[in-house]
Amino acid sequence: MSTPVLSAECITVLARNRHQGALTVLDGISFTAAPGELVMVAGPSGSGKSTLLRVLAGIVSPDAGKIQIGHPLQALSMYTARERARFMAFLPQEDNPENPFSVQETVMLGRSPWQPFYGIACEQDRRLTQQVMVLLDVAQLADRRVASLSGGEKQRVLLARALCQTPQLLLLDEPTSAQDYGQQIRIMSTLITLCTVQRLAVVMVTHDLNLAAMYAHRLLLLNQGRAAAYGTPREVLTSTQLEAIYHCSFIVDEHPCASMPRITLSPLLPPSQ
Ligand code: ADP
Ligand code: MG
Repeated sequence: MSTPVLSAECITVLARNRHQGALTVLDGISFTAAPGELVMVAGPSGSGKSTLLRVLAGIVSPDAGKIQIGHPLQALSMYTARERARFMAFLPQEDNPENPFSVQETVMLGRSPWQPFYGIACEQDRRLTQQVMVLLDVAQLADRRVASLSGGEKQRVLLARALCQTPQLLLLDEPTSAQDYGQQIRIMSTLITLCTVQRLAVVMVTHDLNLAAMYAHRLLLLNQGRAAAYGTPREVLTSTQLEAIYHCSFIVDEHPCASMPRITLSPLLPPSQ
């Protein structure tokens, strides 16, 4: 495997609560992402997935641990905001797309870290914006106000803006949560192609364990702020492991069409429930 462009070492985040004191949101999380690699992060609601991505994006400062990005790896704090924005793009779980901009203007905002003067687009910016809009199936919406779009359309526009940044590291928090099956597969294929062809490194949060089984090179499973498992999807996605953290029953067998695990949710609760 090539040298990582992201290294997270022993990341710990505490949330201060007036009534309960300090609550541990993340507890000693370590992992890396290399060029060309898609690392997925899964785990129950409230397990710390979004907090981890916000730490990696530099929005939340960890109480302990070290984040390094780039090649060679350097502490996140060494980069200026513009350098960071050129190196990595972050798609949050929730954004504020109630902006007055059109789809095309919103996607083109992704070019701003590369523009010498904010908002002054060159021909290459316009071409790239168009290509990315086509890739994410939003080109037909180019002149629509983002505020008027469906949830899934907005999500693809914001993903398009992140891709338009042409980052080397892409941090995505549940980018397919509002997408139908076809769009999910198209988005995942696009990400895998970017990993393979442009050596993009992707860290993606998802609740969809079958998407993780199909596409993740490595999977980090979080539970109550800790790493419950970290490895290939086949190593991580075992019924014992999943039942222990989700408290419901799973059947994990072999996908009928490809060499990958298939996860089926069972309506039966485990005996202990
Ligand atoms: P996930 O994305 O896995 O659903 P989050 O990272 O959003 O989880 O949150 C993890 C846990 O930390 C949740 O229980 C959440 O309520 C708590 N949390 C996150 N940030 C804060 C904060 N600033 N203050 C108090 N609790 C927080
Ligand atoms: Mg979240």
